[in-house]
Amino acid sequence: MQCVVCSEASSYNRAVIDVVNESELGALCPACEDEQFGRSLETGDWTDEDCALCTRDGFYALPEWRAYVVEIDGKRIARSEYSLEPPVPHLCDVHFTEITGETSSRTVTPAVPSSQ
Ligand SMILES: [Zn+2]
Ligand SMILES: [Zn+2]
Repeated sequence: MQCVVCSEASSYNRAVIDVVNESELGALCPACEDEQFGRSLETGDWTDEDCALCTRDGFYALPEWRAYVVEIDGKRIARSEYSLEPPVPHLCDVHFTEITGETSSRTVTPAVPSSQ
């Protein structure tokens, strides 16, 4: 699993999921999470599926990997999994592109709440 920001192999920290295509894009390593978000992903309220940084729809989910132990034939095996059940922080396409630095096809949309 590679970190989507720095491309280093990441330990299980957070998975990065494209929720539209339901595909796993990679991981977000602890160092990049800290650099991009500080502790806000850990402490925020992510009960809806809007982008964590603006009011657009979240297209990318950043669920935490959680380690657990299963017992199979008397052997204890460590596994890890993530769940897309809320609360899970999401990012919109603009902010996802922002952190991953894929600037090629980026359309600049101001990340301000619309005044509805
Ligand atoms: Zn990283
Ligand atoms: Zn956003």
